[in-house]
Amino acid sequence: MKSFEKNIRKVEPYVPGEQPRQKVIKLNTNENPYPPAPGVKKILENMDADRLRLYPDPTSGELIKALAKYYGVGEDQVFAGVGSDDVLSMCFLTFFNSEKPILFPDITYSFYKVWAGLYRIPYECCALDGNFRIVKEDYYRENGGVIFPNPNAPTGLYQELGDVEDIIRNNQDVIVIVDEAYVDFAGKSAVGLVDKYDNLIVVQTFSKARSMAGMRIGYAISNPLLIRYLNDAKYSFNSYTMNPLSIACGAEAVRDRAYFEEGLRKITETREWAKEQLSGLGFSCLDSKANFIFATHPQYDAGELFKALKEKGIYVRHWDAERISQYLRITVGTREEMEIFFDFLRRYMK
Ligand code: PMP
Repeated sequence: MKSFEKNIRKVEPYVPGEQPRQKVIKLNTNENPYPPAPGVKKILENMDADRLRLYPDPTSGELIKALAKYYGVGEDQVFAGVGSDDVLSMCFLTFFNSEKPILFPDITYSFYKVWAGLYRIPYECCALDGNFRIVKEDYYRENGGVIFPNPNAPTGLYQELGDVEDIIRNNQDVIVIVDEAYVDFAGKSAVGLVDKYDNLIVVQTFSKARSMAGMRIGYAISNPLLIRYLNDAKYSFNSYTMNPLSIACGAEAVRDRAYFEEGLRKITETREWAKEQLSGLGFSCLDSKANFIFATHPQYDAGELFKALKEKGIYVRHWDAERISQYLRITVGTREEMEIFFDFLRRYMK
């Protein structure tokens, strides 16, 4: 081993879902099958390349303003970043600096462990119960901070806001981050609680309900003090995180509320229909409130099924991990994409 090796920060990185270049039925990374708001296309078409000579607005002002208006909060209560991964990473760096372990569920977004590793944050995982639900009481103990997604991933299960509030209330000495990447498909957001609890940060994304995963926009909503700490960390890291297109397109997407709501309706309708179809084929599905379904079949091995689907150009997600190796996570696509998926399953199971 070279002696410089000991000075290298070694981490076990996150493994993102596959992004195949060829055309496939892509139900593996929870993207939205519908295009972004029409105004976004217009901005892209009219973009003047000369604008790229200049640095973007380091405050992402237009985007922050649109989000603050949408949520009815102050502009000093919103922080934007390059996807919610960037925002969450900044949150880990800024808020989780205790010697005590941070807490998150054992089955959850696998990036949490990676950031904890990267920033050398001690952590402990709280096991989901036999029905894959978060047990809120497990979080009522001394810790260095709490983070969980609602709905959780990859289960899709939504925790009622009362339970979320109980976790926040029982952890007022530390920061609690609620990762709401999928909340628009689910139910009430915890954003309404940020003025009540000064330890709460809610993180959301444009990658799912707003059909803009490729643009990389995420944001946090909290009180002005915690947002200031987040900005201090951001300006100590990279001041120009958001490019001018992301700022303009993001703001436009937020302003088009009608298009957004229509998109949500289509996805949730297809999700409920797809759950029925899966049950009809003998799958057990968790009652997902997100834009994906976590399902298992008593007779068919999930790993084998995953491979067979992939051979036919249908991509879903499978983890060879404890408790979930017999499950597939299937993103809700268009009705037509889901029909192709179900046609395959029917033939496979004959
Ligand atoms: N949180 C959860 C729970 C997710 O599943 C994802 C998507 N991989 C993210 C955050 C990050 O999404 P993005 O960086 O695209 O906003």
